Amino acid sequence: MSNHYDLIAIGGGSGGLSVAQRAAAHGTRTAVVEKGALGGTCVNVGCVPKKIMWYGATVAGALRDAPDYGFSIERHGFDWTRLVAQRDEYIRGIHAWYHTYLADNKVDEIHGTARFIDAHTLEVEGERYTADHIAISPGGQPLVPDTSGAELGITSDGFFALTKQPQEVAVIGSGYIAVELAGLLNALGSRVTLVLRKHQLLKEFEPMLRETLMEEMQESGINIITNTAVAAVVKDESGKLRLDCQGGISCAGLDGVIWAIGRTPDTQDLNLSAAGVEMDEQGFIPTDAWQNTNVDGIYALGDVTGAAALTPVAIAAGRRLADRLFGGMPESRLEYENIPTVVFSHPPIGSIGVSEDEARELHGDAVKIYQTRFTPMYHAFTRHKHITAMKLVCVGAEEKVIGCHIIGLGADEMLQGFAVAISMGATKADFDRTIAIHPTSAEELVTLR
Ligand code: FAD
Ligand code: NDP
Repeated sequence: MSNHYDLIAIGGGSGGLSVAQRAAAHGTRTAVVEKGALGGTCVNVGCVPKKIMWYGATVAGALRDAPDYGFSIERHGFDWTRLVAQRDEYIRGIHAWYHTYLADNKVDEIHGTARFIDAHTLEVEGERYTADHIAISPGGQPLVPDTSGAELGITSDGFFALTKQPQEVAVIGSGYIAVELAGLLNALGSRVTLVLRKHQLLKEFEPMLRETLMEEMQESGINIITNTAVAAVVKDESGKLRLDCQGGISCAGLDGVIWAIGRTPDTQDLNLSAAGVEMDEQGFIPTDAWQNTNVDGIYALGDVTGAAALTPVAIAAGRRLADRLFGGMPESRLEYENIPTVVFSHPPIGSIGVSEDEARELHGDAVKIYQTRFTPMYHAFTRHKHITAMKLVCVGAEEKVIGCHIIGLGADEMLQGFAVAISMGATKADFDRTIAIHPTSAEELVTLR
C-alpha cells in the first residue's frame, strides 16, 4: 500500500488523535505517528491518572468526615500499590479502546519517532511517508532544573510511576501540577512540603483563588515554604533526601522530591529545520489564528504551540483544523478567549475569563465585582472545614460577566455550565433572572448582591 496520505498527524495525544479522526471522518486518507503510548500526556501521565488519584484523595476526605455524618468506621490504612495497579489497568483499557477507535475510523497507526525529511516527507523507523498536510502535535516534557542533585528528584512522569507511597515528600513549583500533586499526596496521607520560589502559587489566576487556596492548603497540613530557591538536592547517609534552599532553609528526611516547575515542548526529535518550520527560543512552534505554521501545509496543535496547554484546547484545535481543511468549513478555527479551566486542588478551583485586576486594567471604573465567601453546607456539618469563595467580574452599564472564579467543593463540576453562559455573553441580569437550585453552592452565583 502507498505511503502517501492526505494528512499525517505527529503525536497520538489529544491534538493528534483529534485532527486525524476528524480528517478521516471527512473521507481523507489519514495516519497518526506515535512514539510512545496512544493517548499522549493526558491519558498516560496527565489528566486521567491524576484525576483517579484525585478521586482517591476525595474518598480519603469522605472517610475523614464520615463520623460527622453518623458513620462509625474502622480504617485499615490505604493501599497505594492497589490504587496504582487499578489505575494502570484502567489506562490499559483506554489504550485498547484507542486501537479499535482508530481502526473503526480508518486512521492508520504508525509506531515510532517521526522526523521531517522535507515539508511533505517524514521518516519513521527508517520508512518514508508523504502527506499533503502534516499536523504537528508532539506535546511536551516536564522540566528538570540545572540544580545540583536535581536528578535525585522525579517529575510528574515519575510520580505516576511510583508504586510505593512516599511518606515525606517535597514538591517544588507553584503551578497546576505542584498544587494538584501536593494536595492529593497530603490527602492520601503523605507529609508534604511545597517549595515556592516566590510568595504565591498559581500566579496567573485571580488573586482571590490563589490566596484562598494557600490558606486552605496550609490549614490542611501542607508545609508551604515561600520565597526560596532550591540550591541543591542531597542524599544523606540514611538514604533520605534533603533540600538545601537559599537563605539557609533546609528540608530533610524526604523520601521523595518532585519537580513541578513547568514543561518544555517535545520538538527535539522532529528535525523541523528540514521542513523550514520555525520555533521560538523555547522550542514552541508559533502559529497564526488558524494553526498554520510558517510553512504551507504544516500546522501545529496543542501544547507545542505554547497556548493554553489543556486537553480540550488541543482537541478543539485539531477538530476545527480538520473541518477547515477537509470539511468545507473555511471559517472553522479555535478562538482562544474564554477558555474555562479547573485546577484539581483541594478544594478545587474553576475559573474562566479575566481576573479583577486584569479587568480594572482594561476597563477601569467600568468594572463591578460581586463576591461571596462561605462555609458550604457539607462542611457546616463536619469538623474539618473547607471554605468556598466566588467572584464575578462584570463590566459596563449592562454588567456583562467577563470573569467567573470559584474555589470550593464542587467548583470543578460547577464551572462548565457557567462557561456556556459567559461565552454566550451573559450579563449579571441574566444570572439574576435564573432561578436558583437549592440547596447547592452553585446557587450563590445567581443570587449575588
Ligand atoms: P500530548 O498529549 O502530550 O501528545 C503528544 C504525543 O506526541 C505524545 O504521546 C508523544 O509521545 C508523541 N510524540 C512526541 N514527539 C513525537 C515524534 N517525533 N514522533 C512521534 N510521536 C511523538 N489538561 C487538562 O485539560 N485537564 C487536566 O486535568 C490536565 N491534567 C494534567 C496533569 C498533568 C500531570 C500534566 C502533565 C498535564 C495535564 N493536562 C491537563 C494537560 C494535557 O495533558 C495537555 O494539554 C494535552 O495532553 C496536550 O495534548 P497534545 O496533543 O498537545 O500533546
Ligand atoms: P505551570 O506553568 O502551571 O507552573 C509552573 C510554575 O513553576 C511557574 O509558573 C513558576 O511560577 C514555577 N517555577 C518555574 N521554574 C521554577 C523553579 N526553577 N523553581 C521553582 N519554581 C519554578 O506548569 P506545570 O508544570 O504545573 O503545568 C504545565 C501545564 O500543564 C499547565 O500550565 C497547564 O496548562 C497544564 N496542566 C493542566 C492541568 C489542569 O487542567 N487541571 C493540570 C496540570 C497541568 P513562579 O514564577 O510563580 O515561581
